[in-house]
Amino acid sequence: MFVFSIRALVIASLCFSLKAVAAPSEEKPPLLLISFDGFRWDYLTRAQLPNIERIIREGVHATEGVLVKNVVDTSTLPNHWTLVTGLYPESHGIIGNFLRDDDIDKKFIPKYINANYSNDPRYYDAGGEPIWVTNQFQGGRSGSVMWWGSENAVKWSRPTLQMPYDDNVNFTTRVDVMIEWLSQKYPVNLGLIYFFEPDHIAHTTGPESSNVTEAIKYTDVIVGYLLKRLKEKNLLGNINVIITSDHGMTGTSNETLIYLDDFINIEDYDILTGDTVIAHIFPHEGKLTKVYRSLEKASKQPNSHFKVFLSKDIPERFHMKNNPRVPPIVAFADIHYRHVSNASRGDHFPLAGTHGYDNEERDMRPFFIAMGPDFKKNFTVRSFNSVHIYPLMCQLLGIKPAPNNGSLTVVSHFLKDGVENATTFATYIFVLVVVNGAAGMFAVGFFRQHRNLKQRNVSMKLTSDDTRKRLKNTAS
Ligand SMILES: [Zn+2]
Repeated sequence: MFVFSIRALVIASLCFSLKAVAAPSEEKPPLLLISFDGFRWDYLTRAQLPNIERIIREGVHATEGVLVKNVVDTSTLPNHWTLVTGLYPESHGIIGNFLRDDDIDKKFIPKYINANYSNDPRYYDAGGEPIWVTNQFQGGRSGSVMWWGSENAVKWSRPTLQMPYDDNVNFTTRVDVMIEWLSQKYPVNLGLIYFFEPDHIAHTTGPESSNVTEAIKYTDVIVGYLLKRLKEKNLLGNINVIITSDHGMTGTSNETLIYLDDFINIEDYDILTGDTVIAHIFPHEGKLTKVYRSLEKASKQPNSHFKVFLSKDIPERFHMKNNPRVPPIVAFADIHYRHVSNASRGDHFPLAGTHGYDNEERDMRPFFIAMGPDFKKNFTVRSFNSVHIYPLMCQLLGIKPAPNNGSLTVVSHFLKDGVENATTFATYIFVLVVVNGAAGMFAVGFFRQHRNLKQRNVSMKLTSDDTRKRLKNTAS
């Protein structure tokens, strides 16, 4: 009963504490989420980056980058959708940069292949709720500058303000558009901006090239431009800013290709893309066993450089198994390698860098920095899973998150208030344990004393009865 009492009180205080963490205040600063595509966690040390270093000094910095365990495939679309939904790919449905869904007739084409092509919104509206929708459902206004997937209506809702995907719009213009949205008469309280570098240049010249170093420096110039424009509008210091990325990058070449044609016949299967780290293989009717057995045998040869799984056997840790879009067979290339299918057709590319590998590979990890009135200053955090960024953003905006795979508890210590709440929570637990312990000891002591007293009373009663008897006997 005593144990039950502590547990009940701890649970009650936990509920109270979580409520304290989640309770929004009336006036929350606006929030800006920025992604520089393919910005690997260790790019921060590649050059002098005064503006990024300022954010690190004045805010929060993840020392080993966001650990993107949640988002295999470590590519652009799955990771950007995870950042804004807090869901693993198997839950939000964007399991790769290319998708096939047997319930949707229209082919899926990513915007970086064809910016003018409109995808069926059901590819994105598949269970996840992006933060702009969460924000707008709770009275906020959101603006998206080319964030992946934001052109699609999800739950019948698009961002309040939107700039469609277009690689030709320069980076300063993207910042200017967002500054305008943040400072107009009815400003957005949530802004998202996407920049395609340093990803593109690293694919072409390799992540260790001097071209990438220059792209990293330019990233810093854009961050500096953003800070300058925020200051002009008196927003600097009054806005929370998170700058992160979708994935890292590693070297590859045409010397590290896995020719699927060497093992399986292109007549026996479909594949989503002919040059890929993770091959989504859809065997034709009656060919599943043949295709799988051939690949399995090949994968077990020395120096095969890939692993193959039936969808049901994909490792749980990849979180890309339980979704109808997962193909019957998936082949994962080892780091630096790529699968090439139908090589004679020549639809593979002369790449020097790529990504999409196992999220345990450190090269696949992106960076994370943040600053603003709600963040601690000069605070370093160890790696964390990027599904937690969505609940963190909801907390910053003072809105209730949609169901997600993240947890605010993991990241609330990034925040000034979060610490107070965490401390308060620890204090609650401590006080409760002490109070309950003291109460328990008191209760035990009381019962013991009561029992002793009772025993003494009984013995006193016995003694007095005996004495009475003896006196009586003596008297008689
Ligand atoms: Zn890329």
